[in-house]
Amino acid sequence: MRVAILTLGCKLNQYESERIKEIHIKKGDEIVSIDNKPDLIYVNTCSVTSLAGHQSRNLFRRAKRITDNIFVLGCHAKLFPYEFEGAKFFEIKNDDVNIIQERMRAYLKIQYGCNNFCSYCIVPYARGENISIPPSKIMEELEKKIQRGYCEIILTGTHIGNYEYDGLKLSDLVEKILSKKIHLRLSSLSPNNIDEKLIDLFHYDNLAPHIHISQQSGDNRILRLMKRRYKREDTLRIVEKIRKIREDVNIGADFIVGFPYEDDEAFNNSLKLIEEADFTYLHIFRFSPRPFTLAKLFEEKIPDSLKIERAKIMKEYGDRNNYRFREKMLGKIYKVFPVRKIDKDDKLYYGFTPNYIRVLFSKEPFFEPVFVRITKITNDRTYGEKV
Ligand code: SF4
Repeated sequence: MRVAILTLGCKLNQYESERIKEIHIKKGDEIVSIDNKPDLIYVNTCSVTSLAGHQSRNLFRRAKRITDNIFVLGCHAKLFPYEFEGAKFFEIKNDDVNIIQERMRAYLKIQYGCNNFCSYCIVPYARGENISIPPSKIMEELEKKIQRGYCEIILTGTHIGNYEYDGLKLSDLVEKILSKKIHLRLSSLSPNNIDEKLIDLFHYDNLAPHIHISQQSGDNRILRLMKRRYKREDTLRIVEKIRKIREDVNIGADFIVGFPYEDDEAFNNSLKLIEEADFTYLHIFRFSPRPFTLAKLFEEKIPDSLKIERAKIMKEYGDRNNYRFREKMLGKIYKVFPVRKIDKDDKLYYGFTPNYIRVLFSKEPFFEPVFVRITKITNDRTYGEKV
């Protein structure tokens, strides 16, 4: 059977799509693109913004033009099943802790669900309450996969900062994993989930000097309205401490622009935080009210034109910081982890440095980490040569 898998959204969705792929490959099925006449199509949907919901519907419509044999999964399909008429609904078993190899890296699911109910977020309604996977089960699977020679592990879940099992917190679990000497990358974390112990673990060489902070705003009034449980000062304290331990750390952040009641002062506080924390890349989302959420009821809306303008200004801040960060890497040598992918424009294979910079350098695919000197940067690319 020929199977196509279309995926939108977060790392958890990517993990689940990889899981589906692995199941079909084991059965002897062929994984093909949607243009390659699939007999079965999976549409893994996302509902985090109204744009993501719209894209989910579009992907489903596109799939329907090819076959009636469609499985849908993910947040949007769960929340709005009536938008996927004729599809079969599919769910990955939640206690599944398997690590899936994806281009030499492997995702390790440690929890699922979220109880935080941030005022803008639809995810808790789709993914249910927070459940952490027992550490013994996680470590058992990790051990097996280390034996098989994985290069890098990436922790994943709906909100990994929620991890807690019998008093064992995320930082305790990370310490256990690091003791196994495998290279580990944390995914997105809220500042209130980054405790002193987790910061201290950046002393381990095998913890990637890379962290993505789910910041959302740099204004304390807006953070309160978002029901986030930290202040801008917490973020500044955290980034300062991590940089003292690992000066090459790449600290990215998510921001929402145009949240209700975000006036000029609040927006400027976000820009100031980007500068003060020196976030080295940004994921910027324009606020869109989601069904079921508290923020949908907030009255003072920000016009779309202003959201677009603010996103543009913020992107310039992020791009500037990112360029400055990569400029400092010029001439230095980094271990680059393979992803078996080629850049279509430059026709060069690339990999990622431990601090998550994509480096283009090889005419041949490579399957092991290699050492690369950074030789050139442009606005959006980083080049190197193997040493
Ligand atoms: S922590 Fe907040 S933003 Fe993250 S999944 Fe939970 S409710 Fe959504």
